[in-house]
Amino acid sequence: MLNEKWRLADLIMSIINSIKTVLDEIAISAKKSGRRADEVKLIAVSKTYPVDAILEAYDTGQRLFGENRIQELSEKVITAPDDIEWHLIGHLQSNKVAKAVELASYIHSIDTLKLLARTDRLAGELGRRPKILLELNISGEESKFGSTRDEAFDLAEAAVKCANIDFRGLMTMAPSGASESELRKIFSGLRNLKEDIEVEFNISLPELSMGMSSDFKIAIEEGATFVRVGTSIFGNRN
Ligand SMILES: *Cc1c(COP(=O)(O)O)cnc(C)c1O
Repeated sequence: MLNEKWRLADLIMSIINSIKTVLDEIAISAKKSGRRADEVKLIAVSKTYPVDAILEAYDTGQRLFGENRIQELSEKVITAPDDIEWHLIGHLQSNKVAKAVELASYIHSIDTLKLLARTDRLAGELGRRPKILLELNISGEESKFGSTRDEAFDLAEAAVKCANIDFRGLMTMAPSGASESELRKIFSGLRNLKEDIEVEFNISLPELSMGMSSDFKIAIEEGATFVRVGTSIFGNRN
């Protein structure tokens, strides 16, 4: 019992310290690239971690949390504080779209025209207007979700026309084990694509969601506005 308590105290201290460290690192990387620290928003990726862990992060002032499964998200939304802004960052199945629209402020993983149309339709029926990001597979890696560069223009054109969707930007996930130069190429590729889409459709897209625990500093230097950090805050997932 005493051991349990010590372990919990350890976990709490480590979440508080980790958040502080990550926020410091974000500020340093932003400054290094001539940006303000508040141009980069931290999404604490709490997937697989209990609501207690979320509450510890919440108490430090953290309000943006990321989850990748609808079932887990819906359980956490019920028990966690109301003013948390939930980001759905994982692959979205079409039969989970209504739940996603209900629960998440942002959906980072729209990657097909079908999913986009369904999200728009269900958001309309539910009286919502979710903020969405189009997920791109910049590296062309086989196993990942996300649309190609060419598809991105079709998706963006359709997203602009959706009445019930607030199209905010692009998201990508770099393959694990990529070198720094590969990472820079992927992240700058997403930034360039965003700029091309803005010009093509005469719109402004404020958000670039890129960078995880292992690569968020590089992503910030390449223009990230959302970084999605799990392991560096909560520890390794099993
Ligand atoms: C899990 C996950 C993250 C966080 O990854 P860490 O390496 O733990 O920081 C970020 N983005 C997506 C899409 C994820 O699924």
